[in-house]
Amino acid sequence: MPLVPSVLMSFRVCIACHGIRVYPYVGFMTGQRFQCQDCLELMVIPLEFENEADYKDYLSIVRGSEE
Ligand SMILES: [Zn+2]
Repeated sequence: MPLVPSVLMSFRVCIACHGIRVYPYVGFMTGQRFQCQDCLELMVIPLEFENEADYKDYLSIVRGSEE
């Protein structure tokens, strides 16, 4: 029987600065959005990762391409 983690963490990631402090933001006229607490970017759909390993893989790709 496969081992299933009891807690599945989901990472919401900012599309602009790739930080993980992205929280739901309710706009009265525009509907629900997400806002990054680091760069204050508002987005409709943030990046989302199911686990930290996937997020770190992504980070290494986007950061590696900047050098
Ligand atoms: Zn950000």
